[in-house]
Amino acid sequence: MAKIKIAQYWGAGCGGCDVALLDIDERIVSLADMADIVFWPIAVDTKLKDLEAMPDKSITVTLYNGAIRNSENEHVARLLRQKSAIMVSFGSCACFGGIPGLANVTNKKAISDYVYDKTFSTINPDGVRPQVKFQAPEGELELPVLYDTVLTLDDVVDVDYYLPGCPPTTELINHLLDVVEKHVKEGAPLPPKGTVIASQKTLCDECPRTKEFKSIDRIYLPHEIEIDPEKCMLEQGVICLGPATRAGCGAQCINANQPCRGCMGPTEAVMDHGGSMLSALASIFRTADNETQLSEDDILKLMTEVKDPLGTFYAFTMPKSIIKRKVSERSNKTAEVSQ
Ligand code: SF4
Ligand code: SF4
Ligand code: SF4
Repeated sequence: MAKIKIAQYWGAGCGGCDVALLDIDERIVSLADMADIVFWPIAVDTKLKDLEAMPDKSITVTLYNGAIRNSENEHVARLLRQKSAIMVSFGSCACFGGIPGLANVTNKKAISDYVYDKTFSTINPDGVRPQVKFQAPEGELELPVLYDTVLTLDDVVDVDYYLPGCPPTTELINHLLDVVEKHVKEGAPLPPKGTVIASQKTLCDECPRTKEFKSIDRIYLPHEIEIDPEKCMLEQGVICLGPATRAGCGAQCINANQPCRGCMGPTEAVMDHGGSMLSALASIFRTADNETQLSEDDILKLMTEVKDPLGTFYAFTMPKSIIKRKVSERSNKTAEVSQ
């Protein structure tokens, strides 16, 4: 039986998803028997031209991690899509934009101005900036074009499956590899296109902490109180994104007595991760007169209690949110959102 062919690529991310694939326990030993790794820039010495030479759909499965942040990310994503039978959005950055997606609160000019002019350690009297093309003595060098807007993988190519998590857990990666292997070797059916390889429930559904359905009247940062490890964090006033977040991570942060930051992204039932969480928070926030409906003053109080609303409610999902990005000048909107 021919081996399956796997490709893994690192777009705009931190590299943790690449490490996660190496960290699949004893499965890593059998991976070499089961699969040929045909393209994986951080681990295997294959070049882009090798990928370009592969027949279309000859790669069984590509695990693409990282968001789409520049022209190279997009070019390789399109090439891998063309060469792969199955395309997996691997990790929160590829699925929802992840932490890099928070850059959508600004734009590339503001980022460049800061990085190349304003940081404490920058010395750049001539205002040098990276150029897309540069003539060096050895020949012309070309750099990827940085986009204004961080995109998700499915913003640029057709995606078959989603494997969320920052990074995805060993259990979920092994589950995906099992599904693909059984399909190739035994003809087992694949899940429906678009399936998210994780639980369909919310993290709260699987959380072992006791819930008393009591309301709160202020919000604490995790270091501001001693968190009771038996009780729901939200009911202790610590923002935990469990009500709006997909289960499947093994409640790792909860077990470490830290609130969920939402890296598994929203469940199918949630249209907007942050909006849904804000609504959950509002439902347990004590109103001035104990009415269930929040008054304008109550809403203002609630919002001022949250120190960093975007970073709290959209830490992993801003490019997939209804907001998607901040648009600072309406006249410049097209330029900002198109790339
Ligand atoms: S999902 Fe998390 S671990 Fe994976 S690349 Fe993004 S930031 Fe890194
Ligand atoms: S809000 Fe957090 S701590 Fe509370 S039940 Fe949900 S996941 Fe558990
Ligand atoms: S508890 Fe939340 S933030 Fe932590 S790993 Fe699970 S989904 Fe991600």
